[in-house]
Amino acid sequence: MEKIVSLCKRRGFVFQSSEIYGGLGSCWDYGPLGVELKRNVKDAWWRAMVHERDDVVGLDTAILMHPQVWLASGHVGQFADPLVECKSCHTRFRADQLQESRCPDCGGDLTEPRMFNLMFKTFMGPVADEAAVVYLRPETAQGIFVNFQNVLATTRKKLPFGIAQMGKSFRNEITTGNFIFRSREFEQMEMEYFVKPGTDDHWFQHWLDQRFNWYINLGVKKENLRLRPHGKEELAHYAKGCYDVEYLFPMGWSELEGIANRGDYDLVQHAKHSGKDLSYFDEEASQRIVPNVIEPSAGVDRSVLAFLLDAYDEETVEKEKRVLLRLHPLLAPIKVAVLPLSRNEKLIPMAADVFKALRRGSVAQYDDSQSIGRRYRRQDEIGTPYCVTIDFQSIEDHQVTVRDRDSLKQIRVPAAALAETISSKLAGEPFDVLPPGGTKWLGFDT
Ligand code: ATP
Repeated sequence: MEKIVSLCKRRGFVFQSSEIYGGLGSCWDYGPLGVELKRNVKDAWWRAMVHERDDVVGLDTAILMHPQVWLASGHVGQFADPLVECKSCHTRFRADQLQESRCPDCGGDLTEPRMFNLMFKTFMGPVADEAAVVYLRPETAQGIFVNFQNVLATTRKKLPFGIAQMGKSFRNEITTGNFIFRSREFEQMEMEYFVKPGTDDHWFQHWLDQRFNWYINLGVKKENLRLRPHGKEELAHYAKGCYDVEYLFPMGWSELEGIANRGDYDLVQHAKHSGKDLSYFDEEASQRIVPNVIEPSAGVDRSVLAFLLDAYDEETVEKEKRVLLRLHPLLAPIKVAVLPLSRNEKLIPMAADVFKALRRGSVAQYDDSQSIGRRYRRQDEIGTPYCVTIDFQSIEDHQVTVRDRDSLKQIRVPAAALAETISSKLAGEPFDVLPPGGTKWLGFDT
């Protein structure tokens, strides 16, 4: 974990929030590379969950919602963790996460646990009194449930169908830590899939498979990922079943995503509290029913962390340590780097042309500072799948060298075919496949 934290800071993936003021507890800022990686994770999720499916639509609801929402959902009453405080050093802990009965920091006596609500409260409008209390949402899901009828009416979807949304959520966690794994402001990617009662077991299994494979397809190693069923004592009182997708983080197996069969709990609760009819007319059975809900709920930040940890690698090349991120090309912040061999003025016009052509279709970076070896290392460390080098021969034969991050293999490609070659490789074409006029590069220039 320390290696990832240090790489993230050094290379501009993640910074501590408000760092120049000493930082703010467990809030994080995403730097120039981090913001690209995070967007790529969210885009991959949106593509898999919305664009590639006929049965799921998207939504983007407000963070601030009517306070009744959180009464109906149970968050005002029950979204709380047991808090204990050390009587000597006054550090606070989550009682359910403590192995020991005394303070782990100083060995002092602990208070009796009291329930601590995790929702952030604020006030709406100019008067800061109880009537003006609103909450920062602790999950995005409730925005979906309260819009169930709006989406149904405007899209004319039939069961089964889903509504997806992603965005910021806030929880006043008692204990934080492990970098971006647990923070107080984070992003979620959630989908509520509405099904006919009786078909919920089938769809539950469907979403367990889909969600597990999403991480695998984006390169996470199978041995580092597992599905863990919740025990009876862990299960929310209304849930019929729940699995966590867990990743083998450095601190042990921990939750990346929860997938729950929520029954009809949410729609029934909101119908009761709002007085609105949230049922669905089942044409086949000619009756109104309340759909059941399967919910895959993932964390953006935890996914980013898992992808980074899983991609991190160190190897020795020609007696030198090489640090690299073997990120899936879809996730890599920069897809291709353009590196003229030197700043020689003969090379610059061609390098500039190549860069211009590549950035039209991809996220490209131009780098002409320091030695070529150093520039390769810099790109390896941020996970750039391909580097393109322009040398003096390129000016003669209009060919450029493409280097593969993972295998260190190189090919020589006509400049005119470069953009297409790079996009084919990014889409999964094996590196050895050459475009017309392309050749294998036999020199070994790592
Ligand atoms: P945990 O048991 O770790 O507190 P949870 O079971 O409360 O998590 P859910 O309510 O199921 O989490 O939220 C769904 C997802 O949102 C989690 O799987 C996780 O990826 C993400 N998430 C929840 N809380 C946080 C947090 N404090 N920081 C970062 N991500 C979070």
